[in-house]
Amino acid sequence: MSTLDAQLMANWMADLHGVIDVNAKMLTDLDRQIGDADHGSNMARGMKAVAALDAGNFDSAAAYLKKVGMTLVSTVGGAAGPLYGTFLLRFASALPADGELTANQFAVALSAGIDGVKARGKAEEGDKTLVDTLEPALRAFEEAASGGSDLADSLSAAASAAAEGRDATIPLIARKGRASYLGDRSRDHQDPGATSMAMVIESAARTLS
Ligand SMILES: [Mg+2]
Repeated sequence: MSTLDAQLMANWMADLHGVIDVNAKMLTDLDRQIGDADHGSNMARGMKAVAALDAGNFDSAAAYLKKVGMTLVSTVGGAAGPLYGTFLLRFASALPADGELTANQFAVALSAGIDGVKARGKAEEGDKTLVDTLEPALRAFEEAASGGSDLADSLSAAASAAAEGRDATIPLIARKGRASYLGDRSRDHQDPGATSMAMVIESAARTLS
C-alpha cells in the first residue's frame, strides 16, 4: 500500500527528475524539429527546482504537489510550464487529505489534471499535444481499475497506454501550440510534450505503488 503523503509524491518527482535529466537532450531535439528547441532544457530546469523542495516541509501530498505545480509554472516557461503546473495543481486538488492512495483516487486525480490541461491549452486528443498521452493513459487506467486491478497494475496499464499515445503523435498534424504553425510539416515528428508527459506517467507507475 502507498501512504498518501508528501514523501510519496516526492519519490515520484525524484524519479521524474532523473528521467528528465537523462532525456533532456532528446526532448530538446524533438522540440527542435517542430518547435523552438527548448523543451528538454526547460523541463530539466523546472525539475531541478522541484528537486530542491523538501517534502518534510509539507503536511500532505496535495500541499507538496501544489508547490511543485507552482514551481514548474515559475521555472519551466514556454507553453509547458503552465500546462504542467495546471496538471499538477488540479491533480493535487482532487487528492484526499491522507490515508492510502487507491486506484480510484488516482483515477479521479488524473482525470481532474487532464481536465485542467485541456481547459488551459484548449486542446483535445488528436491535436498532437501532451493530451495525446494523457487521455489514453486515463482510459487504460480506468479500464484496469474498473476491472478490479489495484493501483500498481492500473498504473502499469496507464504507462503502456501513455507510451502508445506518445508514439501515436508521430503521424499527426499539430493543431495546437507552436508546432501548429508548421501545418503539414509537423507530420512525422514525435510531439515533445507528449513525450515528456509519458515520462510522468511511467514515473508514477514506478514510484506510487
Ligand atoms: Mg519549446
